[in-house]
Amino acid sequence: MGKSTVLAELARQLNALPFDTGIVYRALAWAAQQNGISLDDESRLNSLAQQLQLELRREETSNGLAVRIVVNGQDVSEVVRAPELGEAASRVAAYPGVRAALLALQREVAASAERVVIAGRDIGTVVVPEATLKIWLDASLDERVRRRYHELQQRGEEVTLAEVKRDLMQRDQRDTSRAAAPMQRAADAIVIQTDGRSVQDIVQQILLLAKERARCADAARTV
Ligand code: C5P
Repeated sequence: MGKSTVLAELARQLNALPFDTGIVYRALAWAAQQNGISLDDESRLNSLAQQLQLELRREETSNGLAVRIVVNGQDVSEVVRAPELGEAASRVAAYPGVRAALLALQREVAASAERVVIAGRDIGTVVVPEATLKIWLDASLDERVRRRYHELQQRGEEVTLAEVKRDLMQRDQRDTSRAAAPMQRAADAIVIQTDGRSVQDIVQQILLLAKERARCADAARTV
């Protein structure tokens, strides 16, 4: 159970567009690699983020709605999911200029006329502070290490649990200690502890919360 799985299932049940914002940072990291730009070169990465032709496209598939990411005309939606790009994305995402340049793009999707479910570390705090419902999925480090380990094994990657744990801790440290939009829970987010729970179970809980929220909004409108 990862946040992407919950996102996909929740969006399917709500007939909403699922938007996993990590792809935006992954796409930038991919473009940096293609252009031979070092992940330490903040100023070139800032310029790249400003100049790159990044496009998010809504797509209807047999599995439901999806957001595709296109860089300079090339659809990189699958390529950017490679695990090493997660690490690279976390490094480019630490630069304030990069985050600022990629904000409008994410907000465009959030503001689309249809229902959207968005996943990402700064969505409730920075990207869509006015969101109708904010959920913060929490899991212990050990549980996340187990999930990630299984995910990598399924992809045929040879890693040890200790390596996965070290990488996750490093990434957490970077994501929470960076100066720009550090990974932080919005004060009005509802925390759901996910250890040992199934995707369906978590999705059902979120659907109930969404229904409750919609009822409250309706009641407020009629007062
Ligand atoms: O979620 P995913 O693994 O695709 O994210 C890759 C990296 O992108 C994260 O480690 C994080 O540093 C960054 N990210 C972010 N803000 C978001 C989404 C992702 O900083 N809203």
